[in-house]
Amino acid sequence: MFNNRIKIKELLAQEPAGQQVTVMGWVRTFRNNQFIALNDGSTNNNLQVVLELGKFPEELLKRITTSASLRAQGVIEPSLGKGQKLDLKATTIEILGDSDAEKYPLQPKKHSLEFLREKTHLRFRTNTFGAIFRVRHTLAFAVHQFFNQKGFIYLHTPIITASDAEGAGEMFRVTTLPMDGTAPKNEEGSVNYKEDFFGRSTNLTVSGQLEGELGATAFGEIYTFGPTFRAENSNTARHLAEFWMIEPEMAFCDLEDNMNLAEEFIKYIIRYAMQHNAEDMQFLDQRLFEEEKQLPPDKRSEMGLLDKLKFVVDNQFERITYTAAIDILRQSNHNKKKKFQYEITGWGMDLQSEHERYLVEKHFKKPVILSNYPAATKAFYMRQNEDGKTVAAMDILVPGIGEIAGGSQREERMDRLTTRMKEMHIPEEELWWYLDTRRFGTVPHAGFGLGFERMVQFVTGMNNIRDVIAFPRTPGSAEF
Ligand code: ATP
Ligand code: MN
Repeated sequence: MFNNRIKIKELLAQEPAGQQVTVMGWVRTFRNNQFIALNDGSTNNNLQVVLELGKFPEELLKRITTSASLRAQGVIEPSLGKGQKLDLKATTIEILGDSDAEKYPLQPKKHSLEFLREKTHLRFRTNTFGAIFRVRHTLAFAVHQFFNQKGFIYLHTPIITASDAEGAGEMFRVTTLPMDGTAPKNEEGSVNYKEDFFGRSTNLTVSGQLEGELGATAFGEIYTFGPTFRAENSNTARHLAEFWMIEPEMAFCDLEDNMNLAEEFIKYIIRYAMQHNAEDMQFLDQRLFEEEKQLPPDKRSEMGLLDKLKFVVDNQFERITYTAAIDILRQSNHNKKKKFQYEITGWGMDLQSEHERYLVEKHFKKPVILSNYPAATKAFYMRQNEDGKTVAAMDILVPGIGEIAGGSQREERMDRLTTRMKEMHIPEEELWWYLDTRRFGTVPHAGFGLGFERMVQFVTGMNNIRDVIAFPRTPGSAEF
């Protein structure tokens, strides 16, 4: 058996002074031919491995370089040095994998996030990315914990779909037909997808919602948590071409129930990460503080990361209608001074992210749930309100990010739904299976989609979405 190691996180928590242990990890630094800072990824805290001078051959010492991997055995002792409580006094060191210090791209110093994006494959080995991805893991775990405790069924909706009616975003086509112009053509001269792999044209999913509704109208409550693809040709710090979305869907649920669940859910997973990743969260709080020191005082956040998150979990989200939001925006000094890039033209306009961010960051200074949007700006499946103008939609906005989730009560009334589909030129034949939910035992139901990476951004305080997903997919970039 090879693996009889103790993880460094566990070791530091147990403080087993006097005990013989084995650890394995990667060298962060090696000082004075005596002190190895060893990291095994379980925590940002390195274990100091102490090599007694003269006890280890020169050949071995030369191979202890940054990012070399090794196995160390020895006895845990109280540390004589500052900065750590315990040392491992090494009896044996075995190099598992050498690392040429001249060629290893990361130096034991601070690198910019932009530089590290070019070294995506190695950035997990830095403190910042160590912390981010442990927190990301904890958040994902908390998502499942939350829904499982509530009795939701985790439904795996398909990644390859044929429906292109949802309109959530530009899609990536999935095909096995040749791309060199020899693909079979139909009578009109365009590609004949009847001869494609699935006998029809297919895409990568932009949302699991429509399938999720089928689950909810049988199990009562379901959620999805999976990859989602949008060929967004915009380079923003909030959009990826491949991202993970969480989509709960609940039968016997109206818009208000939906808001309540979303707010409880968001608070739960933030609190969970703060409790279970306290050390990493502390590190990220400090990281953001240092980063913002570079900014002019008026550009810095009013609150530190941890204070902000604590404020969010301890306070109610603001809930206002779209109509009220338009009034606030119209009457704002920001608008009167013509500081919005997109003018506030009035009721019916699509809110731009600068408007959303004004509402959360400047006006309310807390998360906001906006609801009851004009029907014209929203998808066909959203429930029509009695005013004949708005639908029971909601968007959840948070400071620093903007929209983190979007949802709605769904139109459960068949006649209203099909009328709306006709107005929007969505062919019923394509969605016959979806419409069966309304044909056979339809119920009031609702759900939302929360972008997991935006959530990870919010919790870790990372400004760019590329830094919270392991291998970001964005226009022009899919190297790793
Ligand atoms: P936005 O206006 O920010 O593009 P959207 O209105 O297109 O968002 P929805 O279709 O409602 O978003 O998707 C639900 C959630 O998925 C959003 O609230 C957001 O958190 C997330 N999301 C949407 N598009 C992306 C993307 N390209 N990359 C990462 N997350 C996304
Ligand atoms: Mn979008």
